[in-house]
Amino acid sequence: MIQRKRVVVLGATGSIGQSAAKVARDIPERMEIAGLAAHTKARELAEQANEFRPGAVCIVDETKVNELRAHLKYEPKIFCGEEGLCEIAQAVPSEMVLVAIVGTGGLRPALAATRSGKDLAVASKEILVMAGEIVMREARAHGVHVLPVDSEHNAIFQCLHGSRVGSSATEEVRRIILTASGGPFRQTPGSEFQGITVEQALKHPTWNMGPKITIDSATLFNKGLEMIEAHWLFEVEMKRIEVVIHPQSIVHSMVEFPDGSVLAQLSHSDMCFPIQYAVTWPERVANSLPPLDFAQLSKLEFFAPRYHDFPALNLARRAGEIGGTLPAVLNAANEIAVSAFLDNRMNFPSISQTVEAVMARHQPVAHPDLDAILAGDQWARREAAQLIEDNLKTRKPERV
Ligand code: MG
Repeated sequence: MIQRKRVVVLGATGSIGQSAAKVARDIPERMEIAGLAAHTKARELAEQANEFRPGAVCIVDETKVNELRAHLKYEPKIFCGEEGLCEIAQAVPSEMVLVAIVGTGGLRPALAATRSGKDLAVASKEILVMAGEIVMREARAHGVHVLPVDSEHNAIFQCLHGSRVGSSATEEVRRIILTASGGPFRQTPGSEFQGITVEQALKHPTWNMGPKITIDSATLFNKGLEMIEAHWLFEVEMKRIEVVIHPQSIVHSMVEFPDGSVLAQLSHSDMCFPIQYAVTWPERVANSLPPLDFAQLSKLEFFAPRYHDFPALNLARRAGEIGGTLPAVLNAANEIAVSAFLDNRMNFPSISQTVEAVMARHQPVAHPDLDAILAGDQWARREAAQLIEDNLKTRKPERV
């Protein structure tokens, strides 16, 4: 008899967390929610908990504990604070922890889950970008799997079916081809990038996601982070990882083998597909998701990326090749730059300019431990914030 997989969801109220809830509703015979954690949305967390009745919940914002308790209709164990995330990842009986927390907050809980012998389903790409070397090493040491939930990496994982993730899949793979929708500015001339508004950047053509990742999709930093993520997950050198623009977001990524054959994974752009595959792997089970209707797909297009207008790709390639603390620095500087753009404190091209400037100032530490990675992260945040501040001061007053 097939056992249900018990999954702890970190980031339950975000867009991935909500898709995970949909999957649990859709295939209840295969997926059980064993724990739920959210950052601040206490009422939404309580509503999910009331539906799935996990044995434990966690709210990171400690001021929201009473609100959470007030909305709960039963009495699960309640964790709180950043340590609460590690505790719920570790202590709750489960086979898998889905890490879907925006930013760097998922790193310690991911390692805690790995060390307690649980498979990791990784939706937060920061975990692998910042600490891919450590996470994959810990996973190997504890005999657990790292299952990608990012749609591209899940696609690659599906194409590599048969090659164990974390094994020396590199010999059997010639190229990994990550697809990118190209974002809302795929056809916007680079000369117009200065005038891009926050509202325009938040309108993603094919995926519905949180604001940070939507901006990252517009700058292509998202794809850059995914190149580094793929490098660690599949143990493939950066030079074998390529990006192709595919506006329809139907082909989620491809793998080219030494004989020239290419395997691709196709589906509608709905995160329920990769989440379900991570949960049911190595099996596939029927669900209620809509099938692809090839007669209705008018076309699938592929274009080379515009590297000059989207510097993020080459910055990420460089960070991935040099490695050490540099990917963490790229990631942190980008986070600060994106939030400054969202606050209207700088223009769209300044996001990649800020990241490039911070990377240029960094002295990378090779094979860093977690503390060195987090120190690099903090350093980059301060540098980026200072650069943005300095630029604001020197900016010419607007003409009236
Ligand atoms: Mg993705």
